[in-house]
Amino acid sequence: MALSENVRFVGNVTVGPDVSIEELLGLYDAVILATGAPEDRPLGLPGSGLPGVIGSAAFVGWYNGHPDFAGLKPPLDVAAAAVIGNGNVALDVARILSKTRAEFDGSDIAAHALEALERSSIRTVHVLGRRGPHQIAMTPKELGELGHLEDAAPRVDPADLPPAEADALLEPGMRKSVTHLRDFAAASAGAGAGKRKTIDFDFFAVPVAIEGDGKAARLIVERTALGPDLGARGTGETYAIDCGLVISCIGYKTLPIEGVPYDAERGRFANRDGVIGGGLYCVGWARRGPTGTIGTNRPDGFEVAEKIAVELGDGAGMKQGPAGLDALLQARGADTVTFSDWQRIEAAEAAGGKGGEPAREASPASSTCSPPSAAEPFRTVLALQPAPSYRPAPVFRLAFAPDAPVGE
Ligand code: NAP
Repeated sequence: MALSENVRFVGNVTVGPDVSIEELLGLYDAVILATGAPEDRPLGLPGSGLPGVIGSAAFVGWYNGHPDFAGLKPPLDVAAAAVIGNGNVALDVARILSKTRAEFDGSDIAAHALEALERSSIRTVHVLGRRGPHQIAMTPKELGELGHLEDAAPRVDPADLPPAEADALLEPGMRKSVTHLRDFAAASAGAGAGKRKTIDFDFFAVPVAIEGDGKAARLIVERTALGPDLGARGTGETYAIDCGLVISCIGYKTLPIEGVPYDAERGRFANRDGVIGGGLYCVGWARRGPTGTIGTNRPDGFEVAEKIAVELGDGAGMKQGPAGLDALLQARGADTVTFSDWQRIEAAEAAGGKGGEPAREASPASSTCSPPSAAEPFRTVLALQPAPSYRPAPVFRLAFAPDAPVGE
């Protein structure tokens, strides 16, 4: 898409210091925020700041080779880790901590992470859900994979499972996931036989504090019961899990941008079906919050493109567009990156990864997805993106705006 004639990529630009939303709206008829949800929701517990307590964005960034997290050094010289959350990210993290070196073959995990994980002493990974097996947010394929790990066995306490007949009320995907949990529970008595690691599912368990002398040593957990609204209610009974590593996988949030209304509760921009207002739109996790995969978010993007095409009307195309943006960025001394510059960076990074070990994850910017038909009237699509490795916070991902009136 970035190679098509009506798309212009302007990299290494941060909304805020380099250009404000107000300025972009003054230059373009439509501005679309596709900034994702790169930040962890805070755990907010006593002891959350101790070394050894890590958010999933940092941990996933570390093993995927994100330059901001290359120096994370998660403590893997400990016997046990606690993974908080019952979503797919928690599953990803539990799996990464449990795989053997051979199981990473062919993956694009960062070389530094692979090396550290190979030396890991972790033998038990606790996966904590504050509610029960019928309330997990894990999908069946991802959960089923835990049953096929070379050197790790999942364990579920049969007492945590509701009566089997209750599964009939679940939607089919959820029923499949719960069936995996039942299989793990059935095999739990002999789980671990011949395997060095276990993945222990702790259901009805909400973390209340992290303790340790200068670093995480144990997680204090309160047992819960489901309330009438299916929410978790603390029972007052607590227990401790000895663990030197705590990874919180409780969801992400979009970073606020000055001048853009923000819904703090949902961790996303305040919007109605992708429309923020006044020529400003949002897509992806910035629109819907941190749920769903590309398959869920892509149709939302098409819908917003169609809305823009309708809303622009005849008055569009009178703004300065690229010339105005270039003048403004130049005046501010911004060191912008064109798409061909970006390709050179990409080639250099890929070359750095040759020789068997991947240097970093594949860049989503190399995706070949085609623009929606409704976007065809746009003469110019401007993509603003921080260049890889250059700026710490990926504040602004994509904006597109027509350069000339639709249909001209
Ligand atoms: P998620 O699916 O929303 O799961 C978050 C989990 O954290 C839930 O179990 C939630 O429990 C729990 N949680 C939230 N606040 C908590 C707290 N204060 N204390 C304890 N637990 C808490 O989020 P995610 O795992 O980050 O995934 C985000 C999206 O990416 C999802 O749509 C996911 O399916 C997708 N994803 C997909 C894949 C894949 O397909 N391979 C991989 C990774 C991510 P409650 O339900 O009780 O709130």
